[in-house]
Amino acid sequence: METMQYPKFTPEMKKTHKILIPNMAPVQFRILAAAMEQAGYACELLENCGSQVCELGLKYVHNDTCYPALLVIGQFLDALGSGRYDLDRTALIITQTGGGCRASNYIHLLRKALVKAGYPQVPVVSLNFSGLEKDSGFPLTLPFLRKLLAAVYYGDLLVALKAQTEPYEMEKGAAKALQDKWLDVICGWVRQNKGYSGREMKAAMPKIAKEFASIPVQRVPKVKVGVVGEIYVKYSPLGNNDLEKFLDSQDCEVNLPGLMGFLQYCVYNLAETPRLYGGSFLEKHVPGLALQFIESMERTVIKVLQDNGYHAPLPFKELVKLADGIIGRGDTMGEGWLLTAEMIELVQAGYENIVCAQPFGCLPNHICGKGMINKIRELYPRANITPIDYDPSATQVNQENRIKLMLAVAQERLEESTQKASVSVQERAAVQVPAAQDPASQRPGAAIQPQPSTAGLVQSVQKALSGSEDSKNTERMKKNAKAAV
Ligand code: SF4
Repeated sequence: METMQYPKFTPEMKKTHKILIPNMAPVQFRILAAAMEQAGYACELLENCGSQVCELGLKYVHNDTCYPALLVIGQFLDALGSGRYDLDRTALIITQTGGGCRASNYIHLLRKALVKAGYPQVPVVSLNFSGLEKDSGFPLTLPFLRKLLAAVYYGDLLVALKAQTEPYEMEKGAAKALQDKWLDVICGWVRQNKGYSGREMKAAMPKIAKEFASIPVQRVPKVKVGVVGEIYVKYSPLGNNDLEKFLDSQDCEVNLPGLMGFLQYCVYNLAETPRLYGGSFLEKHVPGLALQFIESMERTVIKVLQDNGYHAPLPFKELVKLADGIIGRGDTMGEGWLLTAEMIELVQAGYENIVCAQPFGCLPNHICGKGMINKIRELYPRANITPIDYDPSATQVNQENRIKLMLAVAQERLEESTQKASVSVQERAAVQVPAAQDPASQRPGAAIQPQPSTAGLVQSVQKALSGSEDSKNTERMKKNAKAAV
């Protein structure tokens, strides 16, 4: 069989070429780009979007191909055709997951499209951890991997802090401005080759979280929405028609599980496959060591979030167990069992309204995402999950209308539970006030003790629920309300 010849990214090109990066996860990838710059590569994170991106993808990639491949390739071709780059000094970078899914083969589709579109000289760098494309002039050294992990963890932390602060901030734009500020600071550190050791991250992360926690907020009850799905359409605003922005406009708190979970899932699967189907001792145990190393950073992020009153994700080793009995851990195509486990984690954490974003025609995610919804609903009747297909022919209006239906149910439930909490506190207060009186205060001559009035107690709970107290107070009042129930 004739093998396709393609230009390779050689070590010399490090000095001459600019590498274009598709923008999948805007926050995490900005830090990643800084790490590449520090390693000596000139690079640029692509921001181009619009209908021409999809049209170019459709023109040069078969329309049966996964939507993420179509968009990534379209975005590259659009950038190359913009006239902004010297085509003899430009390279592209794309990931290869190394699994059985088509994501391992996007690189070949891209090379074919480059030839067809008239850019055969443009080399493509493969970013992979599975030994594919060994001849790449982009070696994955341990220090670079360390920076990559730091980039993802810093990015995940900034995304979580902004997402849990922004909907409640009293001064519009405060959380976004703080996220931008810290992104600049972290990118600066990474470019100066610092800020990514375990010690430095342990020192920096609490400072970041503390600053977010000091933003004045009104913790009014809001609909909480989790977003899961195929990795590209879950994170990329280009892939999901700016889903996060749309949910923000609907006054929701959005939880986008971290990118690190996906990387841990990929490492975990490296050992799971030989465990299930046979493999060498090293194949079965080396990934476990890598996971242990990652765990130390994971602990830092979780602790920092919890210490500052934010919701933190479950540790990966707990997350792995969530899908047991629902889907096998051998299901590793696409987002596999991770997608199911993330939905359960979100439901258990109170983010029971979920958008499951999946590219149309993505078989793995239709099975582990859409295919698991009924089972999850059986186990968690309050799970309010809506699968949304993303593909070139789906209109944004349709997608948003389907999400609005899910949000309508969520809003109704929120109002019900807020009302219930308020009524229960009234009943509880009516019973408790006389019982709470100190018998000593009944004695003749005893000083009159101020007693909490029923109306006052109810008012303060309502006040907390309607957001006129600070966040800590609100949480405390909510706990009291729950205890009262
Ligand atoms: S997970 Fe879905 S979208 Fe991604 S490569 Fe596999 S089939 Fe394509």
